[in-house]
Amino acid sequence: MENGEKPEHKSSPFVFRQSEIRAGGGLHRVIECDTALFADALKGTGELLSLTAEADFSVGSGDLLLEGGIKASAAMPCDRCNADFKASLAESFDEVYEYSVESIDIEDLVRQALVLAVPAKILCSDGCKGLCPSCGANLNAGPCKCGPGQDGPFGALRDLKNKEP
Ligand SMILES: [Zn+2]
Ligand SMILES: [Zn+2]
Repeated sequence: MENGEKPEHKSSPFVFRQSEIRAGGGLHRVIECDTALFADALKGTGELLSLTAEADFSVGSGDLLLEGGIKASAAMPCDRCNADFKASLAESFDEVYEYSVESIDIEDLVRQALVLAVPAKILCSDGCKGLCPSCGANLNAGPCKCGPGQDGPFGALRDLKNKEP
């Protein structure tokens, strides 16, 4: 005998039924997220390329514990050299749900984690050399015409000092 699965609500990959999780003794789910749904979380700092969320529910004595996390990649400009690069973002989250909560929606948790995953300073690499303060050349591509050892207005000041008798 087969029961056709009846969707009781609009199907969302982020909504879980408490009763189903408890009946199964927990639940582990990996969700490939629709990036269009979460693009706003980057607040214009970049373009979301991929987003994977992981949810791990375990059954406690009076509540459910959710441990999860996100992994994302985004195209964003480096704060130091301004070049677009592909950033890898990751963040974890956890939450406790009372048994009285039947419908568990983790979409907001995923969105918050993505917001938190974006660092205050985004660098294309730890060793990014940035832009030349004088001519604006990207120094990652090689030294600019300003020559070695120059450092903008301070370099000019130092040159003046050196000319003093
Ligand atoms: Zn850079
Ligand atoms: Zn330069």
